[in-house]
Amino acid sequence: MNENVIALDGPAGSGKSTVARKIAETIGFNYLDTGAFYRALTLSLFRSYQKSPNNRSFEEWVKTPEAERGLSEVKILCEFSAGKENKIFLNGEDVSLSIRTPEITREIKHIANRRIYRDFVNEELHSLAKLHKLIMDGRDIGTEVFPDAKFKFYLTASSRVRADRRFLQLQEQGIPADRDEIEREIILRDKSDMEREIAPLYQAKDAFLIDTDLLSKNSVISKILEILDR
Ligand code: C5P
Repeated sequence: MNENVIALDGPAGSGKSTVARKIAETIGFNYLDTGAFYRALTLSLFRSYQKSPNNRSFEEWVKTPEAERGLSEVKILCEFSAGKENKIFLNGEDVSLSIRTPEITREIKHIANRRIYRDFVNEELHSLAKLHKLIMDGRDIGTEVFPDAKFKFYLTASSRVRADRRFLQLQEQGIPADRDEIEREIILRDKSDMEREIAPLYQAKDAFLIDTDLLSKNSVISKILEILDR
């Protein structure tokens, strides 16, 4: 039983990162955003793809030996900072913002679908878990990466509620957005995360299910803290 890892899985926009950050701060763990590793790896591969002279699509190119060989040069580092977003470095460059573009979000599925790239990320996650106590948010933490985690949570909410939350966030930042378009993107991402052949998103049998549709952020946090305290 692994007591150093708390797994927090669930679909995009279910509130995992906000909750995980707060829990980490409260119980003295570090928060690790595993999606950021997939994002940084996608960014790295996408840059190499753009430099490589070929007429394949990115989806086809990531299957080539050339793309896979490039992995040996990818170094992703995560900087923890209590109560804040993780800072992510790709070969020394701070890519915390550039991994969040819609283009990277769209292309991730081609990386997240392939065993070789998942193994690369998982190795990094296992090395970090040897050094730190971590609450990790992701899609496959409780099912694939740390099936032995003592505590597992699965956060979910309807696509409408998740889209509404994202819409409000963007509004607060002054970024124009379309609520229906956001919901369509969320549904597409759910589909590709839940239906992929390798490490699909689903609730581990021994994970606590928390439906956040009708719960405030603070109620979700209290619920999780209560369970961790048992
Ligand atoms: O968490 P975030 O939305 O940033 O993750 C981006 C994408 O990375 C997810 O939609 C999913 O395809 C992939 N991912 C994954 N496994 C994880 C974390 C993220 O496949 N553990």
